[in-house]
Amino acid sequence: MRFELVTIFPDFFRGPLDFGIVRRARESGLIEILVHDLRAFTSDKHRTVDDRPFGGGEGMVLKPEPLFRCVESLEMAGREERMARTVKQSVVLLSAQGEMFTQDLALELAGLERMVLICGRYEGVDERVAQGLVDREISIGDYVLSGGELGAAVILDTVTRLLPGALGNEASAMQESFTSAQKPDADGPDSTCGSAGLLDYPHYTRPADFRGMAVPDVLMGGNHEQIRGWRRRKALEKTLRNRPDLLDEQDLNREDRKLVDEIKRKN
Ligand code: SAH
Repeated sequence: MRFELVTIFPDFFRGPLDFGIVRRARESGLIEILVHDLRAFTSDKHRTVDDRPFGGGEGMVLKPEPLFRCVESLEMAGREERMARTVKQSVVLLSAQGEMFTQDLALELAGLERMVLICGRYEGVDERVAQGLVDREISIGDYVLSGGELGAAVILDTVTRLLPGALGNEASAMQESFTSAQKPDADGPDSTCGSAGLLDYPHYTRPADFRGMAVPDVLMGGNHEQIRGWRRRKALEKTLRNRPDLLDEQDLNREDRKLVDEIKRKN
């Protein structure tokens, strides 16, 4: 998959994309990352990318011309085809006003072959970019960043680890927090308590006793069925405590509902 980042700060991406899974994915050719300096697509002496807002108000706005020129130089499929999803390409504007980035959206984006991520700055981007250049606007959360670069890095990282071959163990992406898909034919404790839309269960490694905090006995016992039950219960407990909104969306099975009732009774 090819990611293309459009930014006024190309050096921003030195570092965040050079480690771990993303680095390995780049090295193995699973992904390719191109960073485009928006200023290279200006035509004036001062390489101006921003201007004052019509109608007055604070701050500056990213001008449409360099953004259109930059994206047009990339020779992507047409906006209509992209919006109709008849091509595996997308041009995305990072925006606090966009649709919310979620694990489900990341899974959808992982099916693309090319994705352009446009990073806004200042007070934002001239609206005609949303209107006529990009096929979607995405927000990474209900807060305001100073620029789209961190958002683009978040999306790139999340999507990359979902690409087949990016993680050492394919099963592990299936059972993480928020992931609704579960492997149907899985066996062993690790693959039967997938998160199914809940938060992940707690993980422990050695030492078994760290500063008086012991690893729960059940995990040391090797009884797969008990481990599965314990992990499911812990995932439900944490979801109830930290993200009850996720639980509302679940149609829980009988076993889960019993566990939820028990947890609620105890608290
Ligand atoms: N005035 C805008 C915020 C501009 S912040 C507003 O109130 O919505 C400058 C840039 O940071 C935006 O153009 C966008 O590219 C990026 N940005 C800010 N918050 C973001 C978020 N939650 N998700 C994705 N990008 C964001």
